[in-house]
Amino acid sequence: MHDILPQDSPVWQLLESDFRDLAHQYGYAEIRMPLVEKTELFVRTIGEITDIVEKEMYTFEDLNGDQLTLRPEGTAGCVRACIEHGLIHNQVQRLWYCGPMFRHERPQKGRYRQFFQVGAEAYGMAGPDVDAELILMTARLWKKLGIQGLQLQLNSLGSLEARARYRDILVEYMTAHIEQLDADSQRRLHSNPLRILDSKNPAMQALISEAPQLSDSLDDESAQHFADLLELLDKAGVAYTINPRLVRGLDYYEKTVFEWVSDRLGSQGTVCAGGRYDGLIQHLGGRPVPAAGFAMGMERLLSLMVEDGVQATAFSPHIYLVIAGDGLASQGLALAESLRDWRSGLRVMVSCSGGSFKSQMKRADKSHAALALILGEDEAQCGNIVVKFLRREKPQETISQTALTDYLENIDEIQRKLS
Ligand code: ATP
Ligand code: MG
Repeated sequence: MHDILPQDSPVWQLLESDFRDLAHQYGYAEIRMPLVEKTELFVRTIGEITDIVEKEMYTFEDLNGDQLTLRPEGTAGCVRACIEHGLIHNQVQRLWYCGPMFRHERPQKGRYRQFFQVGAEAYGMAGPDVDAELILMTARLWKKLGIQGLQLQLNSLGSLEARARYRDILVEYMTAHIEQLDADSQRRLHSNPLRILDSKNPAMQALISEAPQLSDSLDDESAQHFADLLELLDKAGVAYTINPRLVRGLDYYEKTVFEWVSDRLGSQGTVCAGGRYDGLIQHLGGRPVPAAGFAMGMERLLSLMVEDGVQATAFSPHIYLVIAGDGLASQGLALAESLRDWRSGLRVMVSCSGGSFKSQMKRADKSHAALALILGEDEAQCGNIVVKFLRREKPQETISQTALTDYLENIDEIQRKLS
């Protein structure tokens, strides 16, 4: 779990605000869910025989004896909230969220125990047009963020029934090659055989690539849905690769699944993953509502952004107010307040708790402010203020405090930053 330090937060803020603007462009509204849910919710939605539920959850008993879990992903809580508040009863809902998720994984680059996701969910729309909308949204985000070289992989998992048929075929194939299965896969052979296709063990890849394909067992409706989606993407000019092995880490998907993958992140290459999960809401006790969504890992996106040279400006004030004299604090604070009243975008940092004039000027310089305002005893008595430019050669000036905002109106450094 990481601290995000002040020098790193600007690029996080950039990603967050770009995603928020994007979501709003498509009509998605923000939902904020609790970080903790009942353990049972994740077991029922994600599935018992999955990496997350089997070995990655932070689960604890609270003082009432309730089993709770730090959320490992956002969809389960989002669906729970929507059912609880009647948000998806006979209505369409487009939602997005952003926040930390928790999984007890082996930490490595691109894989952390607390990591951040942004995600979107669309409820009440069964057609492939929403699947396409979600994909277009993500494609637009890469452009906006300046991330190059992501590849879209698509597959259809078919209906739950089609998957059950395929499961039998797969079990038969895997059983015939049982000596080649690693321990994890042997364990999954009868509990959740599709998950074997998701194995990251290099030794399993040959066997997996020879396995019978899910697409050969697709039901007609899913096949049509998938064909329609591909046509929509073709017409929208979105390139994709069909990956018949793509099964996704969660159990609740059906029909469309997709991932955006980078070849620059090693085995942590998936930056965004999503799909359709029409059966989940009914499974959790709601009325049947079609649903689709995606989630993306923010740390992985950020490392690509930084590699691609995306710059985010670090925070710095426009003005640093030096208070050089005893008993001037209240006049100094009042002056700073009046400047913040004048322009809400203006950033004024006050040198609180004094110190020598020299050390205050050092702090002013370190703050990267464009201007220092100096309130000394003489100025305070006459209602004046000294203006000193910190980033260019220009003689300092003494002006009346009442004329200060008019003066700032004509200072390039301030006006440029405010516009
Ligand atoms: P992986 O196959 O890499 O373990 P996953 O299938 O478990 O991923 P999802 O549950 O689909 O991942 O989560 C969506 C996205 O969240 C992932 O594509 C990835 O970008 C990000 N993500 C998942 N787990 C982590 C983690 N432990 N640390 C950082 N990012 C993560
Ligand atoms: Mg995982």
